[in-house]
Amino acid sequence: MTDTLIIIQATSNELSKSDLAAAGFGREAAAASGGSFDILLLGPSAAALSAEVAGLGGGTVFTMSSAELEVYTAEAFAAAAAAFLSGHPYRLTAAATSSATKEYFPRLAALLDVPMASDVLKVESVDPQKAVLTRAVFVGNLLATVELEAPQALVTCRSSEFAPPASGGESSAVEPVDAPTALASPGKVFVGLEAASSDRPDLKEADIIVSVGRGTRGPDEGIPLCERLADVLGAALGATRAVVDAGWLANEFQIGQTGKIVAPEVYVAIGLSGSIQHLAGMRNSKTIVAINKDPEAPIFEVADLGLVADLFDAVPELTAALESRGG
Ligand SMILES: Cc1cc2nc3c(=O)[nH]c(=O)nc-3n(C[C@H](O)[C@H](O)[C@H](O)COP(=O)(O)OP(=O)(O)OC[C@H]3O[C@@H](n4cnc5c(N)ncnc54)[C@H](O)[C@@H]3O)c2cc1C
Repeated sequence: MTDTLIIIQATSNELSKSDLAAAGFGREAAAASGGSFDILLLGPSAAALSAEVAGLGGGTVFTMSSAELEVYTAEAFAAAAAAFLSGHPYRLTAAATSSATKEYFPRLAALLDVPMASDVLKVESVDPQKAVLTRAVFVGNLLATVELEAPQALVTCRSSEFAPPASGGESSAVEPVDAPTALASPGKVFVGLEAASSDRPDLKEADIIVSVGRGTRGPDEGIPLCERLADVLGAALGATRAVVDAGWLANEFQIGQTGKIVAPEVYVAIGLSGSIQHLAGMRNSKTIVAINKDPEAPIFEVADLGLVADLFDAVPELTAALESRGG
């Protein structure tokens, strides 16, 4: 049995940072068990992505696609992965934590009747009967050490915690595998996908995020100022739940416990207090910059750079200074 399988959802023609981080998890898990890792690309872009994935240091890159995997549905992806794993058993099978894997990995665990740990931060040890893993609990305030005592187990891993493997090494073998038939789930039909489009980078992929809180007073006041700053920096826009709940920005912008978890190079927090639920989604950012008029705001406890100022003065000034320097 090879040690670790990484599953990458191949429904777009580009690899995301999360996909690369999942391969980084594969490398760590393989190092812990003294073995190797393979990659399964699942979806219509499997063949197109295989050359790039073959440079990530895995043993074999398997590609699987079929008409029923053209678009993501939890049932089809879980059934396809279960069919592959029943013919190719792995010690650990992992994928990056995402809204899709939150949905289809538990289904996969049920289909295979194996244990699962979600949103894993670190691999402690892997031996043939037990995998010991660290995951965050209670909004990231505690770290739990989880022991999965079984010869096979599933893991979703938090992409901010795993460095992508250096590409350009020896190329892995690429092996197409047949998808099982009848993957569609009775009673569930894919109707359509309405993808939001934006000129700004995707929150999960961005190197810089400008994040706005209730202190901005909404889309008619401070948010446009922060959007201009984001555009000068080439940054993505994020928000607190207070902003989303007020209807100032859509749900997809929310960062935190019940939103997205991000770890960009630079996180600029503007007019947000730094609640534990918000910190749960961004505290691993490399450099945190905070602008808040309250010197006691909790965000300053995690900030690397803090500016105690009224955002309505500071943000336009900062934007103008950056513009005069050409971004
Ligand atoms: C189960 C649960 C899950 C949750 N999940 C999330 C989550 O995923 N993400 C999330 O963000 N929250 C989440 N929350 C909500 C969270 O508890 C906070 O209510 C929220 O994060 C606060 O948002 P805020 O910082 O924008 O607002 P506030 O806490 O009201 O902070 C506004 C800040 O703006 C500053 N300010 C005001 N005016 C100015 C000005 N002119 N210039 C500069 N600064 C100014 C103030 O000093 C203050 O610090 C969750 C809560 C619960 C109970």
